[in-house]
Amino acid sequence: MKIAIVGAGIIGVTTAYELAHDGHEVTVLEQRSAAAEDASFANAGLLAPYLTTPWSCAGGASPTALRPWQTHGSIRLAQGAGLRELAWLWRWRRGHSPLSTLEGLARYSRARTLDIANRHELDFEASTARLLLFRSAKHRTQYQPLLDWMREAGTPVQDISPDAARQLEPGLSPEAPLDSAALLPDATSGNCRLFAQLLRQGMQGAGVQFVFNAKVTKLSSQPAGLWVEGEPDMRKFDAVVLCAGAASPTLLRPCGIQLPMASVFGYSVSAPLREATHAPLTSALDVQQQITITRQGQRIRITGGAELGSSQAAHHHATLQRLYRAINDWFPGGAQLSGPLQIWRGARPTLSDGAPAVGSTALPGIWLNTGHGAGGWALACGCARALADMIGQRTPEVSLQGLEAQRF
Ligand SMILES: Cc1cc2nc3c(=O)[nH]c(=O)nc-3n(C[C@H](O)[C@H](O)[C@H](O)COP(=O)(O)OP(=O)(O)OC[C@H]3O[C@@H](n4cnc5c(N)ncnc54)[C@H](O)[C@@H]3O)c2cc1C
Repeated sequence: MKIAIVGAGIIGVTTAYELAHDGHEVTVLEQRSAAAEDASFANAGLLAPYLTTPWSCAGGASPTALRPWQTHGSIRLAQGAGLRELAWLWRWRRGHSPLSTLEGLARYSRARTLDIANRHELDFEASTARLLLFRSAKHRTQYQPLLDWMREAGTPVQDISPDAARQLEPGLSPEAPLDSAALLPDATSGNCRLFAQLLRQGMQGAGVQFVFNAKVTKLSSQPAGLWVEGEPDMRKFDAVVLCAGAASPTLLRPCGIQLPMASVFGYSVSAPLREATHAPLTSALDVQQQITITRQGQRIRITGGAELGSSQAAHHHATLQRLYRAINDWFPGGAQLSGPLQIWRGARPTLSDGAPAVGSTALPGIWLNTGHGAGGWALACGCARALADMIGQRTPEVSLQGLEAQRF
């Protein structure tokens, strides 16, 4: 089939890969001048397990009534937040994420990501193992039901002492406010943007055409196709897959499809290594602060914060200060914070039940793979494979229950 993909973020690029792998002729249309320039640009890099990431579940779905992530209380309203964002927040608080599906999909997706990386020799700065760092016994107790839930879901979780944590991560400060820790030995992280760019380069000329600086203005079903800004005629395809992240609802609305999506913005600071022996070897999550510290090659990335509002809102100084404090608390001297830093505010395109929309729509020929929220990188390769299977009229190998694109 001749298939168009709208958007070259991590979701669009991996979807293109899987469709080309199945023998389709794929064209990716991207409004920006390169792949992974938007939400996929500088995320925390966490792959499975899924549930340790902030914002991964809506409302009442948390395995603990204590809500250890305190996510709902800590979404701040930034400049530009209005009625639309408040309405979304109301739905989000009452939403119920399909946690088992998401955790299973993330595991499937991690295997697929590593398989693709091995097959094409993509060095995407991957590392294995993650430490969950608890500042107090109280936070540990609050988080415990979630650790139990992960164990029951088949994710290896080891309780470890502060000393054992320091042996695994020798850069952890002896002064760090560490009460206890848990080790996720199978957890993986890696550089999402690098993966997308390497994969894109490998695909060019191998059944996939990337068209950059091409903004899609309208979709069509029967016949399937789309319009690109500045072009008078519709481009015709056998199918269109919408992977436009936060812009997806805008393109779907004129077609009569409403997606309850909001951008939950977060921040990352990427700094060069200062002293390798003081830096993390893999990734760590400050559970109380919901801040991730990840080693990505010769850099350290500190990630956190959640806010609703305009994409143009000014950076929230207090959130950025929290990120700097976290790296200084846990790995002081590991990152070069005084030189040029990459400071990024990015969107998590999040549906009101915290799960992506993957599959066919009511419009023949229009497919969705969008709304991955806090887990787009963790879920990308799995969702892409599953969607390609659906388009090829095969049953996906992994359950997508609760992720149906027509559920809203
Ligand atoms: C601070 C932060 C930390 C995060 N950490 C993690 C993490 O650790 N693990 C994880 O799994 N996820 C994480 N995420 C989430 C993850 O980054 C996103 O879920 C993912 O990048 C979404 O990918 P996407 O391809 O759907 O969107 P995008 O990367 O935004 O891609 C959509 C693309 O569509 C293009 N587009 C839009 N409209 C049009 C149009 N009309 N025409 C043509 N092109 C168009 C855009 O330009 C864009 O390139 C994090 C996000 C943030 C903000």
